[in-house]
Amino acid sequence: MSIARFWRETPRRYNLGGSKCPLCGTVYFPPRPVCPTCPQHRRSLEKMVPFQLSGDGTVFSFTVVHDAAEGFEMQVPYVMALVKTVEGPILTGQVVDVEPGEVAIGLKVRATFRKLREEGKAGVIHYGYKFTPSLETDVRPPARGPAVPVETAAPTSTDRASA
Ligand SMILES: [Zn+2]
Repeated sequence: MSIARFWRETPRRYNLGGSKCPLCGTVYFPPRPVCPTCPQHRRSLEKMVPFQLSGDGTVFSFTVVHDAAEGFEMQVPYVMALVKTVEGPILTGQVVDVEPGEVAIGLKVRATFRKLREEGKAGVIHYGYKFTPSLETDVRPPARGPAVPVETAAPTSTDRASA
């Protein structure tokens, strides 16, 4: 994406600011101007309220990436996961501070802000959220799910929230 667009979107990337429908309570990230869940979704127009996601969630699905995209060569293998937040939206992000083999479906994680990548020699540094295992969960899920192909693209960290 363009640098301009990146910076425009950066504030909400940093703080996981989404939106919540006051009529049915559904939370969206990225924020939506209207609630598609409500049967009469036009009623939610201009009523959506800003909502701060906590960043807490559990690994819903994940894949171990061995072929790094440009800019990620130093990080392979790394884990990309779909994380279901406690508020509902599903976020895509890299799971760090844990061995890929330790990541399992159901693992509790928390969003943290990290450097995502550097662009070229000019050193444009992109920041965004990544996930780390939640500290209070030393109890790991007994069943280790298979790595489900999620997406092997480079972590972009925002997209595919609540579609
Ligand atoms: Zn709604």
